[in-house]
Amino acid sequence: MTDAHLPDPVEGCRCEELLEHLFEYVDSEMNDQDRERLHRHLTECPTCQEATDAETKIRLLLRRSCREVAPNTLRMRVITQIGVLRAGGTIH
Ligand SMILES: [Zn+2]
Repeated sequence: MTDAHLPDPVEGCRCEELLEHLFEYVDSEMNDQDRERLHRHLTECPTCQEATDAETKIRLLLRRSCREVAPNTLRMRVITQIGVLRAGGTIH
């Protein structure tokens, strides 16, 4: 039963898919159907909730400060953290 803690795929929406479309999701550049699908995954996945939350905050910061410093470090940290969490099997 090694799959016991893996998330139940909701209509094929998994963490990889959400992360792939994370920026579109945050920027509301998706159609309602896809957005709803990812949203449903988010409600069940704390890891992706954190990633979305972090990306949302990055966007807010970018809009607030007109600096050219892109928070790549923070973004990379989030992506790396997700990889670690997934590797550790602590994802829900
Ligand atoms: Zn997820």
